Order: sequence, then C-alpha cells, then structure tokens
Amino acid sequence: MAEKKVALITGASQGIGKVTALKLASCGYDIAINYIGREDDAKEVKKECEAFGVEAEIFEFDVTNVEAVNAGIEAIHKRFGRIDVLVNNAGITKDGLFLRMTPDQWNAVININLTGAYNVTHPVVKIMMKQRVGSIINMSSIVGVMGNAGQANYSASKAGLIGFTKSLAKELGSRNIRVNAVAPGFIKTAMTAGLDNNEIYQHIPLRRMGEAEDIATVIKFLAEDATYVTGQVIGVDGGLVV
Ligand code: NAP
Repeated sequence: MAEKKVALITGASQGIGKVTALKLASCGYDIAINYIGREDDAKEVKKECEAFGVEAEIFEFDVTNVEAVNAGIEAIHKRFGRIDVLVNNAGITKDGLFLRMTPDQWNAVININLTGAYNVTHPVVKIMMKQRVGSIINMSSIVGVMGNAGQANYSASKAGLIGFTKSLAKELGSRNIRVNAVAPGFIKTAMTAGLDNNEIYQHIPLRRMGEAEDIATVIKFLAEDATYVTGQVIGVDGGLVV
C-alpha cells in the first residue's frame, strides 16, 4: 500500500457508510464521501473524518447517473491523486410482496444497489489498474444469500453483487486488485428502524442486532489487512446464516 491511502465510500452520509468512512479515516485514509441528498450530514462526516488528521471531501452524485458518476470519480482522482479502496455501500429498499411489486419498485432497487455499483466500479477500476493496487468491497446482505419474503428486488440486487464480486475478483486479481463482499445481517441504522427487534433476536445466535461499527471493522480488515483474500463474501450477521 502506498504511503498516502485514499478510500471512496458511496452513500457515506449516514449509517454503515458513515461509520466505515470514520473507521478508515481513523486508520489514516483520506476519505472521499459520496452522498445524494443529505448534504449537512455529509459535511458533518467530513468534519469527523478530518478530526483524525486526514483529508476528507464530499462528492454529491447519484450512483445511477453514469455521467454524474464519471464526473465525480474524475473529481475525486483530481483531488486525491489515487483511489486505493472503494466501498460500494449506497443502497435502498423498496419492499413489497412480489405480486404487488411494481416495475418502479423493482427498477429503483436494482438500479441503485446493483447497477450503481457497476457505474462506480467501472471508472475506479481504470484508476486502480494504473496504480496496480486496489481493494473493492461490495455491500451485499444476508438476504442476497438466503432470500427474504417481501424483498425479491432487494435480494436480487444483493445476490447480483455477490456474482459481480466473484467475477471481478477473477478478472482483476492479476492486477493486484482484490474484490470482496460483506453480507450484513440486521444492523441498527435508519434502514432497519421499523423492524421488530424482539422477533429478530430469537433467530440470531448472538442475540442482538449488529452495529454499523461491526460492519466497518470487517470492511477495514478486507480493505487492508486481508492481503490474500479475494472473491469472498464475509457474513457479518451474529451467526444468523451458518
Ligand atoms: P442508510 O442508513 O439508509 O444509508 C444509505 C446511504 O446510501 C445514504 O448515505 C444515502 O445517501 C445513500 N444513497 C441512497 N441512494 C443513493 C444514490 N442513488 N446515490 C448515492 N448514494 C445514495 O442505509 P444503511 O443501513 O447504512 O445501509 C448501507 C448499505 O448496507 C446498503 O447497501 C444496505 O443495503 C446494506 N445493508 C444494510 C443492512 C442493515 O441492516 N442496515 C443489512 C444488510 C445490508 P443520502 O443520505 O444522501 O440520501
């Protein structure tokens, strides 16, 4: 790893993305913070990252907008000179039972969660190939492994990210670019705020929901410690899927 290390985290204005940005900042990474709507929150993440003595900048772009993504990645490269770590974290849910699921619900989730990762990874890989080093971490989910009633769109997007991860790992390994995925279980963020915790705990061997910090710790491990790990999907779910 070069002396100056740069990490880009998509969807880093809150939740898992925010905590991942702070974790990597605490490890000495300069941080590119992507968000789409919550500018004040993104600015706060920038401030908190800078408190670790690293450089941080916010970059507003919608991961579904190819032109905006390409301009954003160019701006990040211009600002920091390199991108060592990419965390494809931006994601949404639009749940509903399949027969009632509209094309809009399906397309919105696939476009942001899966195609968004393609859009961002494409220009970033070009940069990583020139550097001959890089680590990409895709945010999948346990439901991409085991499915979930009411989440056909979301599960398909997260399963798609697993195939994407394994294929890219095979393509890019010879360029010293590692590609892995994290599959979180139930993590306490805005996304899971409406869930019935007591019902969930019964099925989790560790008997608690995860914290965003639990995910960030594994992302940090994959980003820089796990130098002989690629193409893997790491479950971070309290033992829910074993
Ligand atoms: P969250 O709190 O809802 O945060 C989602 C982030 O994604 C926000 O920063 C949001 O930006 C950003 N975002 C949404 N659409 C975007 C777009 N089109 N372009 C750019 N950024 C966009 O979610 P979270 O719970 O932290 O989840 C983060 C990731 O982990 C997601 O991929 C999710 O599927 C995955 N995950 C979460 C759990 C869980 O239990 N929480 C479990 C498994 C997997 P703005 O704030 O600016 O709108």
